[in-house]
Amino acid sequence: MYEAKRAGKDRCVFSEVGETVQASRRVQIARALRDAQTRGEMHLVYQPIIDLNTGSTVALEALLRWTSPQFGIVEPTEFIPITEDTGSILPIGAWVLLQACEATVALAVRGLDLHVNISAIQITHPDFTTWVRQTLAHAQYPTDRLVLEITGSTLTRDDHIAQTNLRNLAALGVRVALDDVGVGNLSLQWLHDGQLTELKLDRTLIARLGTDRGRAIAGGVIATAHGAGCTVSAEGVETDDELHHLHALRCDTAQGFHIAAPQPIDDLHWAGLRLHRSAVDDSR
Ligand code: C2E
Ligand code: MG
Ligand code: MG
Repeated sequence: MYEAKRAGKDRCVFSEVGETVQASRRVQIARALRDAQTRGEMHLVYQPIIDLNTGSTVALEALLRWTSPQFGIVEPTEFIPITEDTGSILPIGAWVLLQACEATVALAVRGLDLHVNISAIQITHPDFTTWVRQTLAHAQYPTDRLVLEITGSTLTRDDHIAQTNLRNLAALGVRVALDDVGVGNLSLQWLHDGQLTELKLDRTLIARLGTDRGRAIAGGVIATAHGAGCTVSAEGVETDDELHHLHALRCDTAQGFHIAAPQPIDDLHWAGLRLHRSAVDDSR
C-alpha cells in the first residue's frame, strides 16, 4: 500500500518475498514512531547557514533527530517518509515548528533566520497556515524571520490547497525556500509563480563544482534564480574549493560540514561563525 501511494496512488504494487523483511521493519518503525516526540525520543539540531560575502551566520536550519529505544538512531531520510505515509508527520511537524521557534526566538529577534523543513503533507493541509500563525504567536516569533523549506519533487505545483497556503504564508511575512534543487523534478513554473524567496542547491550539484560542466550547471541555476528574484543557498559544502567556487558563482549563502555540522542549540556558541569567516577569507 505504501509503495502504491508513493508511486502516485491509483495503482497496484506486487511485492516479492524478499521485500517482506524491509516491509516489516517499516511497519515496526511506523508503530514505534507513534507519539515518539511526546515520549522525549526526538530532538532538534541546528546547522548554521552563512552569508558567502561576509562569512557571518545568517540563519539556522532545524533538523529532526530520532533515537528509538528499539531501533537506535534512525536517519530522517528513513523515518520522515514513514511519518508521511502514516500521517504522523502532522503532529511531529507541529512539534518541530514549536520547538524550533521557542529555541531560537531570542536569536530571531536579533535578526537570525530560522529554516524549518516542511513535508508536502503539511503544506497541502487546509489548516497549515493557521497552525503556523498560531505557533508563531504562541512563541512570540517575528514572522519575517521564518523560512519554510519545501521540496519540489514531492509537491505538485498545481495543488490548490498548497497554493492557497503559500499565498497566505506570504501575506503573513513567512518566506518559502525550495529545497533539494538539482534532484527530482523541478518545474520552472515555481520561479514564474514568484512565491519562492530562495532556491537551495542540493549537495549533488555542489559535489560536481570541480568540473567545468558542474560549474556551468550550478552557475546557470544561480543566474536563473537571481533573474527570478530568488536568493540561492548551497547545501552540503564539504571543502574549501567548493566554498571558493560558490563564491565565484555568486551564490548567496551556504551550509555544510565544512562550515559547521548540525548541533544542539546549546552547543552552537557561534563557533561555526568564527570557523567560517576564516574559511571564506582563505578562499578569496
Ligand atoms: P535537507 O533539508 O536537505 O537537509 C540537509 C541534509 O544534509 C541534512 O541531513 C544534513 O544533516 C545533511 N548535511 C549537512 N551538511 C552536510 C554536508 O556537508 N555533507 C553531507 N553529505 N550532508 C550534509 P539530515 O539531517 O539527515 O536530514 C535529511 C533530510 O530529512 C532533510 O534534508 C529533510 O528533507 C528531512 N528532514 C530533516 N528534518 C526534518 C523535519 O523536521 N521535517 C521534515 N519534513 N523533514 C525533515
Ligand atoms: Mg532542508
Ligand atoms: Mg536539501
